[in-house]
Amino acid sequence: MKSADEIRAIPLPQPVTFVMERLEAAGYHAYAVGGCVRDRLMGRIPGDYDVTTDARPDEMLRVYADCRVVETGLKHGTLTVVRDGMNVEVTTYRIDGAYADGRHPDAVTFTDRLADDLCRRDFTINAMAWAPGQGIVDLFGGQKDLEAGRIRCVGRASDRFSEDGLRILRALRFASVLDFACDEECRAAVMDGMGLLDRISRERIYAELTKLLGGVGAARILGEYAPVLAYVLPPLTEEAVRRASAVFERMKRDTPTAVRYAVLLDSLDAETAAKTMDTLKPSKEEKRAVLALLSRRGEIDTTRYGVKCLMRDAGDAFPAVWAAFASLTGHIGDERAAEIRRIAEEILAADDCRNLAGLALDGRDLAGRGYTGPAIGETLAMLLDAVMRGEIPNERGALLAALEAGHG
Ligand code: ATP
Ligand code: MG
Repeated sequence: MKSADEIRAIPLPQPVTFVMERLEAAGYHAYAVGGCVRDRLMGRIPGDYDVTTDARPDEMLRVYADCRVVETGLKHGTLTVVRDGMNVEVTTYRIDGAYADGRHPDAVTFTDRLADDLCRRDFTINAMAWAPGQGIVDLFGGQKDLEAGRIRCVGRASDRFSEDGLRILRALRFASVLDFACDEECRAAVMDGMGLLDRISRERIYAELTKLLGGVGAARILGEYAPVLAYVLPPLTEEAVRRASAVFERMKRDTPTAVRYAVLLDSLDAETAAKTMDTLKPSKEEKRAVLALLSRRGEIDTTRYGVKCLMRDAGDAFPAVWAAFASLTGHIGDERAAEIRRIAEEILAADDCRNLAGLALDGRDLAGRGYTGPAIGETLAMLLDAVMRGEIPNERGALLAALEAGHG
């Protein structure tokens, strides 16, 4: 935790300083705000920087007329200034109107007062502003809550969650990532308000959930808020989330996201898990990575050939990831997991052929020898399998000879 004086001494990245100085030179106020102030006070490196200002959108456009800008959400007051490869979001001080849908404010109103803008923010630790000349503006006790490791809403928690249900998951996400605890009012409002998440898009839920599962406090949050997780991911039960929480306790920090989701969904059969993942609208790759794990929970061939098959089907890194998942969840023992990792390393060190790209023969060779259509793929797959089993050396001459001899 850094004091307000110390943070003053930490230079902002040059592009952020540039963006703020431009506004000030034109007679406006400019503050770094939100997550970047929180992170800097905690001694963490901010992921991105947001600037808040009393300049209106058209005035911002004039101030940055000669800069590369993206009109990210100009109607809502947000402009992105791109400088030295960094994106700095600048937003006009704003009051969010009523939230009829529990998702988006019906209208936003621009304001000249920084205090109004800080009021609309979700948590006290996210509602601080900072300017080099002035230091920290902390109207809601954000610094005290940072010191106490506390997630507390700006204003009444239940009101703030009714306005925007996503804040429920944001509370749990920040608690997990920062290893904080929700204060009692926030905790109660999370538990009472989880139904508000029905109105939130699944993509946004997925984004928060992914961060939550990756946090240092994930095991604790899954345990304490099992009903919320079960609510968000039916047919997952509270009991299953609690079991997942116990597995998270043993998880290494660098465990990939796919393993985290697979652990969470481990109580479901693969088909149900696939449907549950689908509701979160993941990308194809993200979904495939989770299902590759969940569809291999039965007995699995862990000979050198078997490990090569895993690499062929799911990529070179997969056996180690699978071993981590399977040992965490008790599908295999730690010794077997270590053995799989060792075999995988051997395969990679020896650069054993383990996929079509590595085969010393390709489709053109077969087409040149009269193979057509699906026969090409089938024959290549058969030759690859024979090479992976060590029956044929991975050499062009040997593979052609095998073809002549009727292999395929
Ligand atoms: P991260 O490290 O994930 O970027 P962050 O706190 O910067 O964390 P953002 O989602 O980038 O989070 O939002 C920036 C700031 O905007 C927040 O710190 C908060 O002040 C405000 N904010 C974002 N989302 C909401 C919301 N749903 N309700 C109220 N305020 C929000
Ligand atoms: Mg941010």
